[in-house]
Amino acid sequence: MDLCCEKLQEYVANAGGAGVSIVARIIADEYVFVLQSRACSLSEEPLLKNAAMETAKTHPIQAKLRISTQQAIFYCPHCGTSLREQANNDREAFKALTNQHREFLI
Ligand SMILES: [Zn+2]
Repeated sequence: MDLCCEKLQEYVANAGGAGVSIVARIIADEYVFVLQSRACSLSEEPLLKNAAMETAKTHPIQAKLRISTQQAIFYCPHCGTSLREQANNDREAFKALTNQHREFLI
């Protein structure tokens, strides 16, 4: 899918990876991009969760930890272009992207 700038392309390409990424999803029939942050890649999550549970046996943690979070966004964080317009300009490509990103949703 053609996107507004190289930086947005990089964020979208990092979907499911550690750090910041941008993921495509459909919410109530609306095409939306979400900004996502992960402490580790999706494939590494089971290892991190297992290590945290093992550590908690001897060192209980009195806080709720989040290893990933996401928030819908409406403008490119790099250049300010409307993400809604980009999604609606090529709905077929956006829908294909949501299928690729389905496993990365939180
Ligand atoms: Zn942009």
